[in-house]
Amino acid sequence: MAEEKTTEENLPASKAEKIALSGLSLPELEAFVRQLGLPAYRAKQLHTWIYAKGATTFEEMTDLSAGLRKKLDQVAQISNLKLAHLQVSKDGTRKYLFALPDGKLVEAVLMSFADRPNLTACLSSQVGCAVGCTFCATGFLGFTRNLTSQEIVDQVMAIQRESGQRVANVVYMGQGEPLLNAEEVIASIKTLMYSVGIGQRHITVSTSGIVPGINRLAEERLQITLALSLHAPDAKTREEIVPISRKWKMPELMKALQDYADKCGRRITIEYVLLAGVTDTEEQGRELAYWVADLPCMVNLIPYNPTLSPEGVVPYKRPSIDAQQRFRRLAEKTGKTVTIRLERGTDIDAACGQLHNAYQQGKQ
Ligand code: SAH
Ligand code: SF4
Repeated sequence: MAEEKTTEENLPASKAEKIALSGLSLPELEAFVRQLGLPAYRAKQLHTWIYAKGATTFEEMTDLSAGLRKKLDQVAQISNLKLAHLQVSKDGTRKYLFALPDGKLVEAVLMSFADRPNLTACLSSQVGCAVGCTFCATGFLGFTRNLTSQEIVDQVMAIQRESGQRVANVVYMGQGEPLLNAEEVIASIKTLMYSVGIGQRHITVSTSGIVPGINRLAEERLQITLALSLHAPDAKTREEIVPISRKWKMPELMKALQDYADKCGRRITIEYVLLAGVTDTEEQGRELAYWVADLPCMVNLIPYNPTLSPEGVVPYKRPSIDAQQRFRRLAEKTGKTVTIRLERGTDIDAACGQLHNAYQQGKQ
């Protein structure tokens, strides 16, 4: 009996969950079309429609035959990320709550800054987070699961489809610890670069200090920015507020950062949360100077954004503007560039550390 060849007109219609294409890399799209018995150039066409033209349906893909469009619609879908809720801040920040195919929820944020024409998307890399920093709402959620590369990339695509605007910068500063999900995060960075078209110098990965993850990322020799959430240079305070630092201590961590800077030729960003009376003291300022003296870096101070702990209390206080400036002058004695992060979307709990799927918990 002659083997039946799959043609573009008689592709199998799947009864299972349709495969989502947005967020896949070109090689992944090639594997998809190969499975369907389609020629490789079909992957390039799909790639162009999804990434360059922002298609939201197969119907729009006019250089595919009507039969092929119909069949693709039977076995695949553009995206499987569902927008569960959208909040818009009075400063224009948009916070997206996405439902993943298994029903889990994650958030992403689209920010614009008056002094910068380009939009920045803040992405989640995990559902929840296992690190448990004592000032972070995501940490209070605990860890549920890692996101796939596709789920990370599709956050950017979903934001672009919803807002009708192009994202120029991406920061891995939403929910999760990116370097505890290093392989998927690295794969997602490459798809953002090669498929979505985000310049590598416009991508920042922020980590609480996962040394093996920093070393793994350094091997890739990418031109992205690595940001370290240092927060407290003194070991005792750091171990209290960033519990993972009990595992990877300062000397080992600073060495990994130095190696990263050497291998990638990039300056590190040191993130430093200002908690009144805890991290904004003179003593901490002196420790900071000691640790960063020889590291090619800049320092970004983040005044604490209030977060509600599981016990229902706001555990820290944000320092006054005067205290923030005092610490800034102290930090400037290091000779490094020091900036204070501009807060965005605080009124909708979209600022740093405030992402906790509040809508899911019945709050809006
Ligand atoms: N898990 C990664 C990236 C996500 S958090 C990391 O910790 O680096 C992005 C930044 O927001 C981190 O520097 C984090 O420490 C900071 N952050 C967390 N909670 C905060 C809060 N309540 N106020 C201000 N910054 C906070
Ligand atoms: Fe996790 Fe980062 Fe929040 Fe710490 S600050 S709990 S590492 S998301």
